[in-house]
This record gives sequence, structure tokens and C-alpha cells, in this order.
Amino acid sequence: MGNSKSETRRLAVDLGLPEGSVHVEMDVPIGEVPMEELLPALRTTANALVAFGAAVSAQGGKPVSCEKGCAWCCRQVVPVAPAEARRIATLIEELPEPRRSVVRGRYAEAWRRIEEAGLMPALEGRGARASGEAVEVGLAVLRLGIPCPFLEEETCSIYEERPIACREYLVTSDPACCAVPTPETVAAVPLPTRVWAAVAREEQGIPDRDPVPLVPLVLAPRWAAANPGPGARRPGPELLRSVYERFAHDLRRGREKR
Ligand code: SF4
Ligand code: SF4
Repeated sequence: MGNSKSETRRLAVDLGLPEGSVHVEMDVPIGEVPMEELLPALRTTANALVAFGAAVSAQGGKPVSCEKGCAWCCRQVVPVAPAEARRIATLIEELPEPRRSVVRGRYAEAWRRIEEAGLMPALEGRGARASGEAVEVGLAVLRLGIPCPFLEEETCSIYEERPIACREYLVTSDPACCAVPTPETVAAVPLPTRVWAAVAREEQGIPDRDPVPLVPLVLAPRWAAANPGPGARRPGPELLRSVYERFAHDLRRGREKR
């Protein structure tokens, strides 16, 4: 978080990937902190992995199609880690008026429409989750066309603080296909790991191979109100190492699949 008071130390890590090495330099809090305070370092990590993935894709003849002002994806169900959901809630509280009320109003309107469509129980994970249901729920929410409460003039108004999953979603297919995404029409830039999922697993002690419960960005303030933080505190470098070990697991799995 940009307003963290914790003392930090500059750390450099080289992530060895099959296509090359990704160098990441980040400021890591050295004291005991909740995951929320590690988010700047994790965002830096995600940015480096995404930039590398985009470069590899372009070298392979598939440049990224995403451009500023293109925001179909900002109407999709965006997953966030618990620490990110809490950060979003805090960020809204920190907004000056009248912006805070505007964003709160957009959230309230989004929830009203999701409730009206009968999708809230499923989106909150309260309904029974049959196989494939999560995808169906995601598409049903997308069809409602609800813009992210932070989307303004088709541009992200919290760009520096946007969730990790927003950073990790880049495509090489026609942007228009993102309006109604299907596996056949949308080609995402392949990434060796999903940082948001590794963070969510680590925070909740979920084994590497198990599915990670989804906190949708559109419900983040509700989720944070029901699950007030901060999360468990651990020394920053140790917390970072544990998340990076989750990446290492994903990389091993990727190599096994090759
Ligand atoms: S993911 Fe799709 S909608 Fe989002 S910026 Fe990229 S091309 Fe545009
Ligand atoms: S936080 Fe920003 S990038 Fe992410 S969905 Fe919302 S407007 Fe789009």
C-alpha cells in the first residue's frame, strides 16, 4: 500500500522461466505485516511477469491487442485475493468526497442489479457450485453489462492500485471478442503463474492444486465488511518467499505439462 509506514528493504529476485529470466526489484516491508502491505511488491512482480509474457508473445508473432480506452474486460467478473478486497475497501474509505460517495453509489447500483438478476447467492458463493457453474455465473454477470465501479470514461481510475488480476489479463485476439468471451474467440497471453491466485492460496492456506475461492472485485467491499482485516501478520520477506514458492509450484507444473 502506498501509505504503509513499515520500513522496507529493496530486494531483487530472478525468476527462471523456460523462455528466459525475469528480474524483479521491489521494496519489501521487513517487519511483521499482513498480506495487504505486501501488495506493492506483489504488483511489481505481476507487472514484470506480464511484461515478459507480452514480449514473448509478441516475439512469437502474437502482439497484445489491449489498448487504453478498451475496457470490455472491466465488465467481467474480476477475481481478487482477500488482501486486495480489503485494500479496495480501504481505498474507497480514503477517497475524498464527493468521489467516495460516487464510487459507493456505483457499487450499490451494481449490487442492486446483481440481486435483481438473482445472481447474488451464486456470485457470493452461497449457492450450490456444480461443475462449470462458476463460468456460467461469470457469463451471466457479464451479460448484465455492469461496468467496474472504478471505470471512468472507459479508463481505470485506480490504475496504480488496480487488482493483480486486471494486470494479468492481456489478450492477443480481437478486442471486440472480449465483449462475449469464449475459449474459442479470446486468446489470453500465457503466463507461467497467476500472482493473484498464489496470494489468495497463501492467505487462506489452500493447497497448490486445489481451486481457489473467488472474491469478485464487484463484491470486494461487501466481502471485506464481512471479513474485516488485517490478515495474519508475518515478516514481510518470509511472506514474500511463501508466495514465490507458490509460483515455483506453478512453474514445475508447467514444465511437467510440456
Ligand atoms: S482484455 Fe480485451 S477488453 Fe480488455 S483491454 Fe484487452 S482487448 Fe480490451
Ligand atoms: S480496477 Fe480498473 S482495470 Fe480493474 S476492472 Fe476496474 S476499471 Fe478495469
